[in-house]
Amino acid sequence: MDRDLVDQVIETANRVAGSGAIGPNMHGNVSVRVPGEDEFYFTGGPSMRDHPRDLVVRVGLDGTLREGTLAPVQGAVVDMHASRYLDERAVGCVLHTHSPFATAYAVAQRPIGCWIEALAMFGLPSGVPLAGYGPRGSAEAIAHIRAAVVPGVPAVLLANHGVLVFHRTTDLAVLVGGVVEEAAAAAYRAQALGGPVEIPETQRAAALQRAMSFAAEGDRTA
Ligand SMILES: [Zn+2]
Repeated sequence: MDRDLVDQVIETANRVAGSGAIGPNMHGNVSVRVPGEDEFYFTGGPSMRDHPRDLVVRVGLDGTLREGTLAPVQGAVVDMHASRYLDERAVGCVLHTHSPFATAYAVAQRPIGCWIEALAMFGLPSGVPLAGYGPRGSAEAIAHIRAAVVPGVPAVLLANHGVLVFHRTTDLAVLVGGVVEEAAAAAYRAQALGGPVEIPETQRAAALQRAMSFAAEGDRTA
């Protein structure tokens, strides 16, 4: 096992555990693609909190275990991670959680609309799509994910299950996981005030443009 990649997986799991965008039992999984290889590293442990290094496993993109020991419960979702790497070459990190508010939308089988600007800024200008239900990690579930996701969209709700995020880097994946949960939490609370309202479509690209032009200028110091 490559120590740096194991470090990356553990560090990402710790950040997800500390982010609040995870269910109370800390269930979830993180994987990181091995650059230039047809494989990825995957959290084989049951919890994102204090995930042991020796439970990180190396898995082929065909779903076969190449190094380490994998319990059946965790092994069941390996193909779901693999499918994201197979479908999009740019994807470098996949993470899956049952973050509470986003999972509420998944259980209600309702996609998340573009209710907060951060969704438009981080690749979800049409909100977070919903993939239909299938047993976790099954071919049926993966087919639903593939049907729901268009290339470049970095997150999907898994009906009656949770959230799947996939992005170029671990930083972006953790960030988007947080943004999806934040949007769901705000919208859930907005239900008490008449319901969430989407940002007009014409304004979503403008939100992204504005963020990019500020980013291009870099830090400002006065
Ligand atoms: Zn799950």
